[in-house]
Amino acid sequence: MVSDVVKIALDAGHGINTPGKRTPDDEREWSFNDMVVRYIITLLRDYVDAETIRVDDYTGRTDTPLAARVNQANNWKAGAYVSVHQNASDGKWGTHGGTETYHFPGSLQSKKLAESVHPNLIRSFKLKDRGIKEADFYVLKNTNMPAILTEGAFMDSRIDIVALRDESRLRAQAEGIVLGLANHFGLKKKEVAGVTNEPTLNAAQEKVRQEAMKLGITDGKNPFREVNQYYVWNALLPLAKEIEELKNKLK
Ligand SMILES: [Zn+2]
Repeated sequence: MVSDVVKIALDAGHGINTPGKRTPDDEREWSFNDMVVRYIITLLRDYVDAETIRVDDYTGRTDTPLAARVNQANNWKAGAYVSVHQNASDGKWGTHGGTETYHFPGSLQSKKLAESVHPNLIRSFKLKDRGIKEADFYVLKNTNMPAILTEGAFMDSRIDIVALRDESRLRAQAEGIVLGLANHFGLKKKEVAGVTNEPTLNAAQEKVRQEAMKLGITDGKNPFREVNQYYVWNALLPLAKEIEELKNKLK
């Protein structure tokens, strides 16, 4: 049973046709934000105690009013709000760039959330660190839960645009945000049958695992899990029995 589910409300910034909000080559900010939000939702499905909703229009056709987004998040009693954006300077290609995370001035819980998300976002998305900032943006001000707004990259940066045009980098942007949320709320990952979130075995270790499975020593699951007394008895008992039988035969 999961006791404390963390409800996370998300929005992808704007609508696809919101004026401005595009690269100098007319790519839409929404398209980048939407991809990141979709990855966030997918990645959060790997946790047992996270729930998500989008409080914007997931088709992008309408730019859901900010009040409607905030009301939905408040009514749902979300535990966190994440608004995903990409930044812009003056709309002309330049060499500026980097990642920022915003929270409402003086909101301690939002600041803590930002402090958990931002470093992960930087590590994962790998653009210049422009730091954690305060702003009285509507969705930060009017939400009743810890709320952050991420500005992943500058759409008019020749450096950052490379990351925005690369789906694996947009996924990395989402991964950073999810890791920050997971750390902040102590989210627990689901265990897929027979597979855990432990490191993968290298070739030599995998050979040992296969041999051990063949000899019936192990079911091969959870290779890096700590063993308890029972596990040791269970593994050694068949061997001890065989040794005992061999001894009896030799008498
Ligand atoms: Zn935006």
